[in-house]
Amino acid sequence: KLFNEVQDAKGNIRVFCRCRPLSKGEISAGCTTVVDFDAAKEGSLGILTGGTTKKSFKFDRVYTPKDDQVEVFSDASPMVISVLDGYNVCIFAYGQTGTGKTFTMEGTEQNRGVNYRTLEHLFNIAKERSETFTYNISVSVLEVYNEQIRDLLATSPTSKKLEIKQASEGSHHVPGIVEAKVDNIKDVWSVLQAGSNARAVGSNNVNEHSSRSHCMLCIMVRAKNLVNGESTKSKLWLVDLAGSERLAKTDVQGERLKEAQNINRSLSALGDVISALATKSSHIPYRNSKLTHLLQDSLGGDSKTLMFVQISPSDQDVGETLSSLNFASRVR
Ligand code: ADP
Ligand code: MG
Repeated sequence: KLFNEVQDAKGNIRVFCRCRPLSKGEISAGCTTVVDFDAAKEGSLGILTGGTTKKSFKFDRVYTPKDDQVEVFSDASPMVISVLDGYNVCIFAYGQTGTGKTFTMEGTEQNRGVNYRTLEHLFNIAKERSETFTYNISVSVLEVYNEQIRDLLATSPTSKKLEIKQASEGSHHVPGIVEAKVDNIKDVWSVLQAGSNARAVGSNNVNEHSSRSHCMLCIMVRAKNLVNGESTKSKLWLVDLAGSERLAKTDVQGERLKEAQNINRSLSALGDVISALATKSSHIPYRNSKLTHLLQDSLGGDSKTLMFVQISPSDQDVGETLSSLNFASRVR
């Protein structure tokens, strides 16, 4: 409820910034930290851009490298709950490859991320409300690579191209994709892992491939109020975006160039949609990329959006860090 109360004053978009720790490799290479967290509690951070120059940014939350998965999820959880109340929600992680997008969203077996914790939380709240509501929860896992949609839960490969269709009541969906019904938290980790593992199929380098595609988990909730008989249908998208880094022009040719152009195009399209929403523009350009077209129902209107902007603390990454923070400031 807290989120709903503050929403009117602040709009429907929140931006949380998360900085990962310096890696062992960076420490041994002598890299230094350029991020100043002195005002992190107030949602501000500073980037030391050389000499005594510091550039400051303000977000809804700033997480230091010490903040763990529990801490991060506790701030996202009110938004997650609103999907049970019939709102569409979108949470995505943006940033350079290697800054912790997958760590935040997917996490590891020992340090589970937002995706798993979201489902766990939804099941807990659904149980608390079981006298008044029944909830039917299912998940789909998609990948968008080079402007093509792939179903990561499909058990047999299909040659049929997956397309986005609009239903008569206005909502968007992808006919033919697998919607796996999940009844309890025990089912969840294996379904999510199956999706994650499928990302690697057909690519010779798993990490490279995943840094160039968007991985999208959709949680669909059908709720029925047992008191008044009302039903609602809503969805929550959890998106691990492709790496936002710009490749040097001289380094990319052929297939790589096409990938890079598709990534730039879809991330720019996402930025354009969110800033069009923020400025209450009359035309919201959802159709400019598969990513924004898929997310259409969960961006804008009365839906709620949370962006994690992920950054590296290292002096070597300061250029990409500034570019990510500028992108995030533009959408806020
Ligand atoms: P991305 O998905 O943005 O490319 P990853 O999530 O793969 O980045 O993170 C890169 C590496 O940094 C991984 O080894 C990951 O475990 C580690 N890492 C990222 N964020 C954190 C964090 N907050 N705390 C500890 N390790 C992290
Ligand atoms: Mg990743």
